[in-house]
Amino acid sequence: MCHSALITCAYHNRKSSKDHNPNSIINRFKCLFVSGTGTFGRVCLCRDKAADEYLAMKILSMADVIRLKQVDHVMNEKNILAEINHPFIVNLRWWTHDDTCLYMLFDYVCGGELFSYLRNAGRFSNSIGNFYAAEIVSALEYLHARNIVYRDLKPENLLLAKDGHMKITDFGFAKKLTDRTWTLCGTPEYLAPEIIQSKGHNKAVDWWALGVLIYEMLVGYPPFYDDNPFGIYEKILNGRVEWPRHLDPVAKDIIKKLLVQDRTKRLGNMKCGSEDVKRHRWFKHLDWADVFLKKLQPPIVPSVSYEGDTSNFDEYPETDWKAVRALDPDELKLFSNF
Ligand code: AMP
Repeated sequence: MCHSALITCAYHNRKSSKDHNPNSIINRFKCLFVSGTGTFGRVCLCRDKAADEYLAMKILSMADVIRLKQVDHVMNEKNILAEINHPFIVNLRWWTHDDTCLYMLFDYVCGGELFSYLRNAGRFSNSIGNFYAAEIVSALEYLHARNIVYRDLKPENLLLAKDGHMKITDFGFAKKLTDRTWTLCGTPEYLAPEIIQSKGHNKAVDWWALGVLIYEMLVGYPPFYDDNPFGIYEKILNGRVEWPRHLDPVAKDIIKKLLVQDRTKRLGNMKCGSEDVKRHRWFKHLDWADVFLKKLQPPIVPSVSYEGDTSNFDEYPETDWKAVRALDPDELKLFSNF
């Protein structure tokens, strides 16, 4: 689908964003609240003064992106988000850059992170975990069909929309595959063995991470845990998992089949791909067309009093992001396709 169809007439399309001074567009937005930060950027809830609409603006310092060798990742993130459109993936509306920052404008997802709901609840019931897992399977199937591997599945990157349905965010590690890929990226607890062993990896890493996520949702903590990343890697490679008695046996079966060390035998990565995951007994009550059409009843409906409600996010201190260094012309060329 053509990306520009997603952009409301209030915003300039990709081509014209380069023909205009981005500042005149950026100035339309009033940053109200910082809802997330990363090593080289932040996400702000903004109000578009002209359209009277709430949006989330991801702002990345280009100097920091270069310093941290993340140029390719950021370009992948924008290119992939611009290409896709799925009910359970956050919607990129528009993007631009000036000589210091990259800007990506998203629909604001006001329900907050699934992580917060999980930590508050301790663990989710089998049916709650099953609901979120189903929406993620629907999104992974869509991405993998387009040869996109997501590579950063974890509760912090799963947001809840106002209606309680899932929105996957942060495509900073997503990549369009031609063959296998070798970059070590992701979050230690969710890394598949083949990433740690630098064997080259593919879509199978997302199915491994789904196994970790289902376990964490139903148990309350991840299956491989240690105070330092090397301890975590050792546990992942060793593959031993403790199974609490309360865990539903069918859920245990799907987790076991996703957490298979040999990726050629891992559920989701065999001949029938995601169909094998969808056909597993844990999902047997589901009509997958209904999942996609958001016909399942969300188990948690966030408490939201208006579109710009920020009460479901923790506030991060705002720093002076405008003070970041302006790039020289050679550095700017690195972002010429942004
Ligand atoms: P990211 O850098 O994309 O991982 O975003 C960092 C954090 O910002 C996320 O974990 C969310 O808490 C928040 N965030 C990202 N995208 C949105 C959005 N579209 N609406 C609301 N909050 C968001």
